[in-house]
Amino acid sequence: ADDYRTFLSDVVVVGAGPAGLVLADNLVRFGIKTKIIDNRPDRTSTGRADGIQPKTIETLRQMRLAEPLLRKGVRIYDIAFWKSTAKRSLHRTSREIHYPPVVDLLDPYILLVHQGMVESVFVDDLKERGVEVERNTAFVDFEYTPQKVRPLQVICKQNVDQTRKTLGTRYIVGCDGAHSQVRKSIPNARPTGASSDALWGVLDGVLDTDFPDIWSKVVVHSEELGSILMIPRERNLTRLYIELKSDTVSDSPRQELTQEYVQRRAQEIMAPYIVKWRSVEWFGRYQIGQRVASNFTDQERKVFIAGDASHTHSPKAAQGMNTSIHDSWNLAWKLNFAIRGLAKPALLATYEQERKKIAEDLINFDYEHANAFAAGDPEALAANFVKNVAFISGFGVNYDYNVLNVPSKGHGLGTLKPGCLLPPAKVTRYIDANPVDIQNDIPALGQFRIYFFAKNVHGAMPFLEAVCNMHQSTSSYVGRVTVAGNASYTIQPPLAAPHDEFVCPERYTPVSGIFTYALVTDMPRNDMEIADLPPILRDSRWTFYLDNVPEMDTRKQSCMDKWLDGLSENEVVVLNVRPDGYVCTVRRWADGSRENGLAAVRWMDEYYETFLCDI
Ligand code: FAD
Repeated sequence: ADDYRTFLSDVVVVGAGPAGLVLADNLVRFGIKTKIIDNRPDRTSTGRADGIQPKTIETLRQMRLAEPLLRKGVRIYDIAFWKSTAKRSLHRTSREIHYPPVVDLLDPYILLVHQGMVESVFVDDLKERGVEVERNTAFVDFEYTPQKVRPLQVICKQNVDQTRKTLGTRYIVGCDGAHSQVRKSIPNARPTGASSDALWGVLDGVLDTDFPDIWSKVVVHSEELGSILMIPRERNLTRLYIELKSDTVSDSPRQELTQEYVQRRAQEIMAPYIVKWRSVEWFGRYQIGQRVASNFTDQERKVFIAGDASHTHSPKAAQGMNTSIHDSWNLAWKLNFAIRGLAKPALLATYEQERKKIAEDLINFDYEHANAFAAGDPEALAANFVKNVAFISGFGVNYDYNVLNVPSKGHGLGTLKPGCLLPPAKVTRYIDANPVDIQNDIPALGQFRIYFFAKNVHGAMPFLEAVCNMHQSTSSYVGRVTVAGNASYTIQPPLAAPHDEFVCPERYTPVSGIFTYALVTDMPRNDMEIADLPPILRDSRWTFYLDNVPEMDTRKQSCMDKWLDGLSENEVVVLNVRPDGYVCTVRRWADGSRENGLAAVRWMDEYYETFLCDI
């Protein structure tokens, strides 16, 4: 029987894995009417991804969802390399810090938690915001009417009774994994790349062992039998990735590579140490395929793909779930603006530009990493790791210059670079003296952030007043975008759940649907009052920061020293940050005069006009 009732939403998200859940959770927070479907009856219970990289921890912090995972996960700070040869039995060759201080990280570790736990955090948060994953519902195809006389029609099939259902929507995003059906329905989105011959077994279980490094990440290489990657997990579990070297298993058909066979192989590689399993929670086999889809977007029909649907690679560098989450992180706020009629086509075009490049960088890194792994040379593997450590952590995932990431000529500014993330920095909030991580303090509500930096706020007042007044008036482009944005948000304001402490209306009211303003200074707290500030900064009073706790910083630097290479007494800096936390554009002004403030208004108008619509 066919059920052709049409449910209209702004976005249908296909797939409730990490990519789909992060996308849906962000869209719902922005107030976008979202439906999320999945063909499975329940969330992931065992197996699959388990490594959360430092940038993903930051993203979870920005969504105020990190706490339950930080509480339950295992933290990996080091990595040990072991080797056995024909001449020498298994021995440790080196021990390294996993994330050495060359990368400036607030959380310099991998957090090990099961993929199902990560999914649960989002499933529960969505539920709290009134949206449930529609399970047992498989995407089959979609229909598009060229003149857009009716919305996109998503055709689904219910697993239980095989009924067909049609969902009407404006956008479809396929987060439906490596065998994506949505990808197959987009022209020219073929996955290109290759599968390698390397076959691996994966086991999650509780070990009985005398191997000494079980609480570190360990790479073990036997010249004769292949490699093992060993990773400690929550609930006393240990994950083992076991190479099934082709020359030693070539006679065995794949189905004969049973759990017992793989366990025996692990015991042989680990000898003379004893490895026994008290229990096994999950066993899997996989072959590495490294592929990127040729297109991530069908702009005409408004269909996108994200996560494993758009790229696949080896799981050993713990990148798949992390990269998938950040595809959605990149897409969600852009879709929000497009759906509200606030975006020019150039904005959505940056999704494929930015994320396809990252997928390609990931495949290139993964190819080198998998080869270094297979070669079993600990030095080569360690060198490959050190070379790519920023990328692996997620903080080296940078975007090229485009309409969003725009360099300002002649304005070298410390560590802030367009298309890069904000390095961690500590400040205190003026209003309550709480020390905070400034890069995470403003919650992710899909707004651009405009930060002003001045050592002397009184001296910078003409500049600040000029910008703030113009941004509150329709004679500036930013002001007109603000009006357009606020009008779109009055239909459905951003939804805040009770645990978004910072977003609770009584504590923090966004002054605009599009922009949040912040001020950073190192003046003594007693030398000024919030009441002295221009209205926009006065209203967003939770974002007035004092740069006075360098001793709490990862590098013992003040925020202005770290981000801007310092600031002289009269200077003013304006920093624009994307809703996903990447630097847009930044500029330094010699003094806080009104003329400079008006020049800053023109500079920002030119910038935002390239991709946002005004009234
Ligand atoms: P998925 O998690 O595959 O989710 C896709 C969802 O779509 C599923 O729920 C599926 O049921 C649903 N779906 C599929 N087809 C349809 C349809 N037609 N209609 C409706 N729903 C559909 N990554 C890491 O970052 N760190 C790791 O440590 C790591 N380890 C891994 C270990 C192993 C053994 C494996 C196999 C993978 C590992 N990965 C790791 C990769 C990681 O699991 C994936 O990259 C990640 O799950 C991708 O997320 P996703 O949301 O894009 O896709």
